[in-house]
Amino acid sequence: MVIAGASKTAYQWLKLLLYNKSVCIKFQVSFKVTTFTSRNFYIMSETRERIKCLIIGSGPAGYTAAIYAARADLHPVMYTGMEPGGQLTTTTEVDNFPGYPEGIDGPAMMIDLQKQAERFGTQVRIGMVTEVQFSKEQGGVHQVCVDNSTWVEAETVIISTGATAKYLGLPSEQRLRGGGVSACAVCDGFFYKNQEVAIVGGGDTAAEEATYLANICTKVTMLVRKDELRASKAMQHRVFNTKNLEVKFNSEVDEVLGEQVVEGLRIVNNKTGEKEEIKITGLFIAIGHKPNTEIFKGQLDMDSTGYLITSGKSTKTNIPGVFASGDVQDKEYRQAITAAGTGCMAALDAERYLATVESNEEVSTK
Ligand code: NDP
Repeated sequence: MVIAGASKTAYQWLKLLLYNKSVCIKFQVSFKVTTFTSRNFYIMSETRERIKCLIIGSGPAGYTAAIYAARADLHPVMYTGMEPGGQLTTTTEVDNFPGYPEGIDGPAMMIDLQKQAERFGTQVRIGMVTEVQFSKEQGGVHQVCVDNSTWVEAETVIISTGATAKYLGLPSEQRLRGGGVSACAVCDGFFYKNQEVAIVGGGDTAAEEATYLANICTKVTMLVRKDELRASKAMQHRVFNTKNLEVKFNSEVDEVLGEQVVEGLRIVNNKTGEKEEIKITGLFIAIGHKPNTEIFKGQLDMDSTGYLITSGKSTKTNIPGVFASGDVQDKEYRQAITAAGTGCMAALDAERYLATVESNEEVSTK
């Protein structure tokens, strides 16, 4: 719908549509004001789709939220993001998700999750959410822009945009991702049982994963670029007391060796410039994750590293009707199964929120 002009009638239309919520809901109308002055205004409006439950992101958290939301008749719509299926599509075999006794390929598992979500009526759409304007009101409508072009309205939003593992950025590392280079020891460590591996990083994640790998592998070499670990003292203690774990300080990866699969590493000492080669079959990168929260900055509460903050044991953010699940709000566990668990919680939280809003509306109209 387009309202153009500066007449009193046009202004009355605008006022009616802007302030009469029931009219807005009935016709699902929203507005984009391009120019508005006292002498002259021009209003472009477009019919914005109204979605009861909008899910952003298509990893295990997003799909699980979709399954629960669809079964609760919230008619969820999911926008998949740039990497449909999320981080699991970049992994090979998933062995630790309950219910798959023989393991399952990460991409195959995500296709199964999508099918399951669609079976109950979830609309899965390829699209990237590029901007949000969240309402701070209880029962308010959230505006969400997809692909920098289409705005939709959502009564509830479930954010499951995940986190992206950081990599070193070496061409040889990128080429061998999925061929022995991994960013998750808990997911992929088992494939290197009784083999020699290396891990890069000196934080808590690297320390925890190095000791985890040491339980499975014959030898673990931990490469730390500084001359000290950043990990907590307790974790450092564990690292230094693990027999088959060797820490090499001031050490960086110069190149990952191997054509199809990892066969070794060339390491450089960043103090002396000395290079050495070691034989390994698996390389784990544990140099941190970046939560995908850029578009929520200034609207949602985040910790100093950008992870969304949820309230207590719930998935509630600081904005009513906006919930966060999966790795975007969890820097500690980061597993497919824990992400799926919080996806379920987010859908239940959204369902309860909508029930409260609807019952309040009923009371206020009586
Ligand atoms: P951190 O940012 O804490 O550590 C990253 C590590 O990777 C640092 O040692 C850093 O080196 C190193 N690094 C970064 N970039 C490179 C690079 N290009 N090449 C080589 N090394 C690099 O990330 P974590 O994932 O370890 O931890 C994130 C947060 O989660 C922390 O707050 C941590 O305490 C917490 N956490 C807690 C756990 C627990 O309590 N059980 C378990 C896991 C994480 P440098 O020190 O030189 O910068």
